[in-house]
Amino acid sequence: MKNKNIGFNSKLIHGGEFNDALGSATVPIYQTSTFKFNSAEHGAACFAGESDGYIYTRIGNPTIHALETLLAELENGFGGIATSSGMGAVNTVYGAMLSQGDHIISSAAVYGPSRVVLETYYKKFGIDSSFVNTADIEEVRRAIRPETKLLYIETPSNPTIEITDLKACCELAHEFGIAVAVDNTFCSPYLQRPLELGADIVLHSLTKFINGHADIVGGVVVAKDEALYKKLRSVMVTLGFNMDPHQAYLVIRGVKTLSIRIDRAQESAMKIATYLENHPKISWVRFPGLVSHPQHELAKTQMDGFGSMISFELKGGIEAGRKLMNSVQMAILAVSLGGVETLIQHPASMTHSKVSAEGKEKAGITDGLVRYSVGIEDVADLIADLEQALEKS
Ligand SMILES: *Cc1c(COP(=O)(O)O)cnc(C)c1O
Repeated sequence: MKNKNIGFNSKLIHGGEFNDALGSATVPIYQTSTFKFNSAEHGAACFAGESDGYIYTRIGNPTIHALETLLAELENGFGGIATSSGMGAVNTVYGAMLSQGDHIISSAAVYGPSRVVLETYYKKFGIDSSFVNTADIEEVRRAIRPETKLLYIETPSNPTIEITDLKACCELAHEFGIAVAVDNTFCSPYLQRPLELGADIVLHSLTKFINGHADIVGGVVVAKDEALYKKLRSVMVTLGFNMDPHQAYLVIRGVKTLSIRIDRAQESAMKIATYLENHPKISWVRFPGLVSHPQHELAKTQMDGFGSMISFELKGGIEAGRKLMNSVQMAILAVSLGGVETLIQHPASMTHSKVSAEGKEKAGITDGLVRYSVGIEDVADLIADLEQALEKS
């Protein structure tokens, strides 16, 4: 890694490996499925891994490689593996780390499909899973079995914004020879670097903060060492989870402004969370930057900032939630998060409407819960928008 000693913001602009014979200032899109060998010997050397030459885009491509090496530098890992979606990254991790008879412990409040795929497909192949509140380390300890191979953590959790102590969880897991993977989507490496806290693998949905412009779907896995990197990469290549070069180009473009986007969004989020906490129609607000957050102190030590995801509870329940969704004018009523535009979502009537009452209770989804992803608009406009919408709710 040539840029090891430069700062995070400089890495965003100058990081990653890319050599272009024509001296292009930005990384071009290598829109090709296959690559020409110079000779039979060169082709043989590429296949034997004795030459860095490219073979075929599912296996590797210069545009994708530039993104993978950049993201590995940002997370302080050995190497990155880009995937077609965040779920491609999740399944690359599960596929590489779990075999028949193995057991995985996961945060209960993970991204929905990350849990569903374990309970359906992986169960079919004899892999068992436990979902616990990883914010409570004793719950993690109690779930450990001799066949446990992976501890899978999401922090802050979605949509409950609970914080898991990564350092403590990694120490516990490693005591039992269990690998730790962290879905770092909600923070991005600008705010949290799990590998530095002891994790073995970090993954992202690039769709969210890293790309940040709501125009692509993508994912990445970053491994701490070469052995893990090779194991993960072979799953991506053989199961065909690869990213495409055009997607990679857009993420390279989007990630350059990661820190300035997050700086603006989290400054606004602090103001909006404080405004909401003082609103008479709201019973509570979850935002790690508020002193009222139960893990505010842990968030301060583990994260370099509090991010821009806010959850809050409307006193008026499901009806107030529906009214708020229909009354906002600037915030976009949509799932996803981490983009330049502010998004609002009401899990009880939208993403979790088909989940049983018991399932919702376990995941902390109450009827009046609203999830708000703060964008980079003027904060005064966002607050005015919430003010007029709350009046009608
Ligand atoms: C969106 C998301 C995913 C899945 O990513 P896709 O790009 O939609 O496949 C995984 N984890 C978290 C935390 C997410 O927010």
